[in-house]
Amino acid sequence: MSFKTLNLNNFIYKAIEESGYKKPTPIQLKAIPEILLGHHVLASAQTGTGKTAAFVLPILDKLSKITSKSRGPRVLIVSPTRELANQITDSIKRYSRYLSINSITITGGISYSLQNRMFKKPIDILVATPGRLLDLYQQKRIKFSDLDAMILDEADRMLDMGFVPDIRKIYKATSQTQQMLMFSATFDAPIQKIAQEFLKDPTTISIKPDISGHKDIKQISCFADNQSHKQQLLNHFIESDNVTQGIIFTATKRMADQLSDLLYHSDIKSSALHGDMSQGSRTKTINRFKRNEIKILVATDLAYRGIDVKNITHVFKYEMTRFAQDYIHRMRVTR
Ligand code: AMP
Repeated sequence: MSFKTLNLNNFIYKAIEESGYKKPTPIQLKAIPEILLGHHVLASAQTGTGKTAAFVLPILDKLSKITSKSRGPRVLIVSPTRELANQITDSIKRYSRYLSINSITITGGISYSLQNRMFKKPIDILVATPGRLLDLYQQKRIKFSDLDAMILDEADRMLDMGFVPDIRKIYKATSQTQQMLMFSATFDAPIQKIAQEFLKDPTTISIKPDISGHKDIKQISCFADNQSHKQQLLNHFIESDNVTQGIIFTATKRMADQLSDLLYHSDIKSSALHGDMSQGSRTKTINRFKRNEIKILVATDLAYRGIDVKNITHVFKYEMTRFAQDYIHRMRVTR
C-alpha cells in the first residue's frame, strides 16, 4: 500500500518522497488513520519501526489545516532523553520542510538564552524532556492552553526513568481535552495503568518487533576468563573483524568512560556517550560518529536511544543489559 492512501497533505508526500520512503511501515499504516480521526492511540512499537513518522506525519497534516493563530504550543511531544528529542525534531523538520511549521526542542542542557530566543515566535510543536518542561511550566514561561495534541514517546522508558510524576503534573496543567498518543516498546501492566490515566478510550495498536529484519544479523557470544581477557577479546574483534563503525554497550557510565579511554590509547578512534556528559558534548559526539570521525562509540543504554546512524556494522554487548528488552534495542541500532 502506498502513502497516497493515507490522505496526507501533498507537501508532506513530497518530503516523504525525498526521504526515500516507498511505502508506509506497519505502524504507520495502522496509526496514521487513527490519529487523523482524532482518536487517542496507545501503540506498542519499538525504535526502528518508523514510529516517529507514524505520529509526526498525521500531526503535521492536522497543523497544516489550522488557519487561526495562537502562541502555542499546539502539539507537545515528551521524550525520555535529549537524544531522542533531537532525533524527533530532526524528523519533524525533514517532513515539514515544505510547510510553515515552527518546531522547537527544549531539553535540559540547553542554555536559557537560546531557549528564550526560541520562545519569541509562536510554537507549533514543542519537543521536550520532562524535567526542563516542568521547570518551564513552574516558572510560568509556558502555558498549555493551546494544546491540540500531546504525545508521550517511549513511555516505558519514561516509567523506568521515574518521569511519570513530572508527566502527571504536566498533564494536569493542560485542559486534558487534547488528543493523547502514547508510544511504548512494551505493554505490560504499569504501562496499561498510565494509559488508563492519560488516554480516553484509546485505539490500541500493537506491532510485533520485526525479528525477520534481523535475520542477517549474526550473533556471537564469547566467554572471557576475566576482565583483561575480555578486553583483549574486544580489541581483537575490533582490529581483526571487518568493523566499519561499532557501538559498545556498557552497563555503567564509568565503564563507558574507562573503556573508551583504553581504546583511544590503543589508537582506536573512540568516544564515550552517556548521561553524565553535557548536552553539547553528547550532540557533538553523535555528530562526529555520524560523520564517521569516530569508529567506536562506547555507550550506556540510556544514551543510545535516538541514535540513527546508517553504517553501524557491529554491536558489542560488553556488559549485560539491565532490562531484557534492551537486548533487542541494542541490536536495532544496526537496523
Ligand atoms: P523510528 O522507528 O521512528 O526511529 O525510525 C527508524 C528509521 O526508519 C528512521 O531512519 C526513519 O527515517 C526510517 N523510516 C521511517 N518511516 C519509513 C518508511 N516508511 N520507509 C522507510 N524508512 C522509514
